Amino acid sequence: MESTSVTTSFVPFNVAVIGCGIGGLAAAIALRRHGHIVTVYERSHFASEVGASLTIAANGTKYLNQWGIDIIGARAIIVEKLIMRNWTDGTIRDVYDFNDYKTKWGSNYYMFHRIDLHEQMQLTAKTLGVNIILDHKAVNINSVEGIVTFDNGTSTRADLIIGADGVRSCVREQIGIMPQTKPCTSTCYRCVIPTSRVKQLNLKNFSNDHAIQFWGGFGINKIVVTVCSDSEIVAFYCFYPAAHNDRTEEGWNFSATSLMLRAPFPDLDPDLLAIFEHVEDIKLWKLVVHDPYPYWVKDRVALLGDAAHPMLPDQSQGSCMAIEDAAALALIFSPEHWGKNVHTIEHGLQLYEQLRKSRATRIQEASARARENLNERIGWSTKRNIDKSENIKIAKLTIDEINAYDMEAHLNTLIK
Ligand SMILES: Cc1cc2nc3c(=O)[nH]c(=O)nc-3n(C[C@H](O)[C@H](O)[C@H](O)COP(=O)(O)OP(=O)(O)OC[C@H]3O[C@@H](n4cnc5c(N)ncnc54)[C@H](O)[C@@H]3O)c2cc1C
Repeated sequence: MESTSVTTSFVPFNVAVIGCGIGGLAAAIALRRHGHIVTVYERSHFASEVGASLTIAANGTKYLNQWGIDIIGARAIIVEKLIMRNWTDGTIRDVYDFNDYKTKWGSNYYMFHRIDLHEQMQLTAKTLGVNIILDHKAVNINSVEGIVTFDNGTSTRADLIIGADGVRSCVREQIGIMPQTKPCTSTCYRCVIPTSRVKQLNLKNFSNDHAIQFWGGFGINKIVVTVCSDSEIVAFYCFYPAAHNDRTEEGWNFSATSLMLRAPFPDLDPDLLAIFEHVEDIKLWKLVVHDPYPYWVKDRVALLGDAAHPMLPDQSQGSCMAIEDAAALALIFSPEHWGKNVHTIEHGLQLYEQLRKSRATRIQEASARARENLNERIGWSTKRNIDKSENIKIAKLTIDEINAYDMEAHLNTLIK
């Protein structure tokens, strides 16, 4: 782990980050490490933080390590393999082993509980001197002057405003972007169960497998199982046809019951159905497909994370892309580039959009393809990059493309 010290060798500027999710905290930490003065404004008290797992591949964990996030404190589990199981009985049909993952990619692939990671990122941010202000919902942005107004009537002025306010971003609307969306074919239930409860009830204990496990995934139905919080929690994502519910509003926090959870999956592996009778914190997650937005930046304002590129969850790359966005902003506004290759905030933000938009859009599209075809998912895609039926190379998203990406080299091609 690197140190959490701050570089103070160049003139910093004031940054207002709107939204204190994974993306907002990543941006705050990354920019603060270069000495910028960062304040994060969050509308809530985090009371609605969801009990779900988050897998972060090496393209994200590389930065978590660099930024000094305490991975052990976040009770992470290393992903050792992907396991593909048969839908009706759970027998294993394929395994993708990650035994050389860290050697190859430089950092581990981790499974976190979202709350554990969020807490550790807040801790790092505060240690670095980031100011986090709760109960401040941004309602208006003046992108030219750099002024943010909040619903409590207060306002602030910043040199740079980062809209990290999630999939229903207010900052995005304020800079004139109207999302073009279409309903997704699929809806998802997510839920968790403590490993202690699994043992107490003598149910099948998946916490022993340090793997991301899939049932189905060829077509809409798919169950994804992960383990997190020092193996104390097993988490489930359960995708099924959207026609089974009448929700139209996008969101991920609608409460559901065990009966509702089991209804779409009558022929599923009985071991999973038995667990589903006892799971906790069942939430319906209404999925919506967003077309890529025409732009991400305006004047002194930049979008980041789900505000910029909401994606379906099937590549597990949403947070990773938010972390990469944060790393990109910090690189552009670093002592290495600021005042040398980057002369104004507006110029820096144009570079940010050029650097990030094509990569995030490609992953957004690959996530949509993987929604109904597990062979498109990073890992399985690497294994099956040749479509034998047509004998052509399909432009699937591969682990190499994700983890071997060199952001600094990419930026150098844009500033030369
Ligand atoms: C169930 C689920 C599972 C996922 N699994 C994975 C995974 O395994 N791996 C992965 O990489 N990604 C995963 N993702 C995607 C990932 O969670 C998101 O891409 C990531 O959290 C986006 O972070 P964000 O900071 O951009 O947005 P968010 O996490 O949504 O944070 C936005 C923050 O802004 C605040 N806010 C909103 N509006 C305002 C306002 N007007 N003023 C002030 N504050 C505001 C919100 O309260 C919130 O705290 C998953 C997503 C879901 C829903």
